[in-house]
Amino acid sequence: MSNLEGNFYELMNLDNFSTLAEVKTKYQQIIRKVHPDKLQQSNLAKSEQSFLKIQEAWKVLGNPQKKIEYDLQLQQLITQQDYNISDCIPLEEFEETFINEETTFSYDCRCGGSYFYCHDNIQPVVQGETVIVACSNCSLHVEVIT
Ligand SMILES: [Zn+2]
Repeated sequence: MSNLEGNFYELMNLDNFSTLAEVKTKYQQIIRKVHPDKLQQSNLAKSEQSFLKIQEAWKVLGNPQKKIEYDLQLQQLITQQDYNISDCIPLEEFEETFINEETTFSYDCRCGGSYFYCHDNIQPVVQGETVIVACSNCSLHVEVIT
C-alpha cells in the first residue's frame, strides 16, 4: 500500500481500523451478496472482479498479524496526509549546529526555510523511530528518521 486509494477498509465498506470481529461480520455479509455462485450470468464478470478484491482485503484484514501490520501502515499514511509531509530524511543528513548552547540539527526546506530538530522541540507525533518536524517557514513537514 503506497497511498490511501484501494484502502482495504474502504473496499469492504468499513470504518478505518474496524476490529477483527467487525471485519469478519462484514466479510460474511459481503460474500453472501457477491459470491459468484449466487449471481446472474450477466453480472458475473464484474462481480468476480470485486469478489477477488474483497478476498484480497479479507486475506489481510481477517488475519490478526497481517491486520496489525496493515493498520500501522495505514496510520502512517493517514498521518503523512494530515501533516503534509514532503520528505523522509535520516537525521544524519541534517546539519549539526549550536543554537543557544544546544545541539540543534537543521535541514534546508525547499521554500528557503529550515527544519529544526533538537531534543526539546520534538513534535508530539512519534512513530517508532521517526519524528515529524515542521518547517520554520512554510506548512511542510518532514519525517526524520532518528
Ligand atoms: Zn518550508
